[in-house]
Amino acid sequence: MLTEPKILIAEDEPVSRLVLQRLLKAFTCVSVTNGQEALDVIHQEHIDLVLLDIHMPIMDGFEVIERLKNNETTKDIPIIVITVNQSIEDEIRALDLGAVDFVTKPFHAVILQKRIRNQLALKLKSDLLEKHASLDGLTNLLNRRMFDFDLENRWAESQRLKGNLGLIIFDIDHFKLFNDNYGHSAGDEVLIRVAKALMRTLQRKTDRVYRYGGEEFTLIQFDTDLEQLRQTAELLRQCIYDLNITHEFSSYGRVSISVGAALINAESIKSEQFLLETADQQLYKAKKQGRNCISLISN
Ligand code: GH3
Ligand code: MG
Ligand code: MG
Ligand code: MG
Repeated sequence: MLTEPKILIAEDEPVSRLVLQRLLKAFTCVSVTNGQEALDVIHQEHIDLVLLDIHMPIMDGFEVIERLKNNETTKDIPIIVITVNQSIEDEIRALDLGAVDFVTKPFHAVILQKRIRNQLALKLKSDLLEKHASLDGLTNLLNRRMFDFDLENRWAESQRLKGNLGLIIFDIDHFKLFNDNYGHSAGDEVLIRVAKALMRTLQRKTDRVYRYGGEEFTLIQFDTDLEQLRQTAELLRQCIYDLNITHEFSSYGRVSISVGAALINAESIKSEQFLLETADQQLYKAKKQGRNCISLISN
């Protein structure tokens, strides 16, 4: 929720739904009338808070909470249950499943508003923390922690689908010489420009690029083949070369990168660590072949 918060109202009873919509007219709200629709919306749109009725047709509120909490991408969305049922068992069950609050109807409008504001404030804080924990502070690219997390997930997914997984590792050429001659802050500036160029170049692609460490970057390509991987590796090399940032102490007179890439069928190899090592060996090969080039392997 780093922009305007969006609230989902899941309530089958028209009058209650209207009351909630009016109460929350200062916010952007989406309304649905059963649990299944609630899940559909949450998987399609970015939702910051759910106001959830328990008794609804097709799928009840308990099941919605359970499903949201069991899904990695939705487990952190706060859920406030709003129900006519005053049963202590239901309240305990909802809170046990992971709802943050339980409100019974009829509710006091101002109190409910304040509870909602409190939850949204917490959500904003946790989203900011999440953002800082996943992005690299200098370049704004995804960081090493996110790379490890995504690689593990992509690996598991490839194994399940028995598909190919590609990994690209690339590294700025003679960057130590750049720092030594132009200064460390000029070096930082290069890293920022390189990151921006990478993001621009990959804008329309699903590929995510990470700052792996220092002047090394990675890209995971899921469900791919050698030709696609080659094209991406070449695109990355070319986009950095085209920045045309002067580097008189490198063989090409400008900042360049060397790129290593590996493609494996997840079924045939033991671990994602192997993929990482194989791609790294290709990076080493590209360096030895004279830099500003790509080297690929397929196992
Ligand atoms: P090669 O072509 O073989 O990769 O040579 P290189 O000089 O790029 O490699 P080396 O590993 O010797 O040096 C990497 C340099 O990257 C050294 C380090 O100071 C610099 N570096 C790493 N992180 C940062 C950073 O955040 N900012 C700046 N300015 N420099 C960085
Ligand atoms: Mg109901
Ligand atoms: Mg380097
Ligand atoms: Mg390096």
